[in-house]
Amino acid sequence: MKLSSIRFWWWAILGLLLVCLPTLGTLTPNTVESDVAALVAFGPRVAGTPASEQARTYLIEEYRQAGYMTELGRFTYPKFEDLGSTLRVEDVTIEGRALESSAAGQLSAPLVFIPGVGRPDDFTTVDVTGAIAIVRRGEIPFLEKAKNAATAGAVGLVIVNTSPKPLFGMLGDEVNIPVFGLSGEQGEPLLQKASTESLRANLNVNVRRQTVTGYNIIAHLPDVKQPKILLGAHYDSVPKSPGANDNASGTAVVLELARRLANTPQSHQAWFVAFDGEEDGLRGSKAFVNTAEPQFLPKLQAMLNFDMVGVNDQLFVGGSESLTALAQKADPKISKIRDTGNSDHQPFSAAGVPVAFFYRGQDPNYHSPGDKVVDPKLLEATAQVAQSVVRYQLESASNP
Ligand SMILES: [Zn+2]
Repeated sequence: MKLSSIRFWWWAILGLLLVCLPTLGTLTPNTVESDVAALVAFGPRVAGTPASEQARTYLIEEYRQAGYMTELGRFTYPKFEDLGSTLRVEDVTIEGRALESSAAGQLSAPLVFIPGVGRPDDFTTVDVTGAIAIVRRGEIPFLEKAKNAATAGAVGLVIVNTSPKPLFGMLGDEVNIPVFGLSGEQGEPLLQKASTESLRANLNVNVRRQTVTGYNIIAHLPDVKQPKILLGAHYDSVPKSPGANDNASGTAVVLELARRLANTPQSHQAWFVAFDGEEDGLRGSKAFVNTAEPQFLPKLQAMLNFDMVGVNDQLFVGGSESLTALAQKADPKISKIRDTGNSDHQPFSAAGVPVAFFYRGQDPNYHSPGDKVVDPKLLEATAQVAQSVVRYQLESASNP
């Protein structure tokens, strides 16, 4: 062959490769493993953030490729975050925690000891005008202490725990002064000191109060308006955690089930839901249940929920007797657990829907930056069991 024609073929093959390679990449079907990797790569999928939106776009496209249509269930909720709050007294900085619903604020003011527990009478014996009040926990609600302090003219309030442990409190309603909680260990000496000396303090309550918009992704075949089975998992994660096990694992299992059931009669009986806002208090599943059509939930025979199914060999199932029995029929090695109700099946269960909750137990990387890998074999195994449960349930329902 002449040199020029060798060159021609070389360029032709190279050109063909360059044109085809990107297409070959997209033709490789996604698996539970690549789904988890894709979700993790977006970063923490905190509800209301761009990473959450990227995850949503990915999941919608995957469901579409599996042959399903998707609807978005939009909902909103208030969210309170402490971004790091401190109290500084005489050059010593003490870490503490803003009480939930506290106002934000940076104050430099006298620190005034309040005798008693912060009833209105307790404030009559001291002058707290323009001051930060410090008081013990107990006897009356945090909110009352805060309102009494504000009414008496205090610009901030420190509440000291009655035990040595940190104080994690909720006011239950918004107040217009910063309210900061201290452990008994750190707060008790400060209370003593403030009762005998005049002190100045810098209180930095760094909090954010916002309204979050969440979106549930609901996938089903176009003609399925009323499913018999709902398969669900939350796709959101906590801040700073990539959420591979909690809960890209469950999200990928539900997507995998959608792929496996596609082109089977069972796909005409099922809805697949990726819930948002679970980490902020089961917000997505609660919104789903609260906005369901009146007949929708009573006609649902089963809700299967998957949360943290990518780490630990042992698979646990909790929930309704009939469904946990089907899971053990599918795999006798599955252990039953008491249902603690702290995942998205809970609102369904409360509404009378039979539920099964699939879970693989404690993860050392739970809610931490280390939650970035899962074992794809465990996801496959979970999907396998769930697929059997779906089949058993639908068979038993059609042949009672
Ligand atoms: Zn979870």
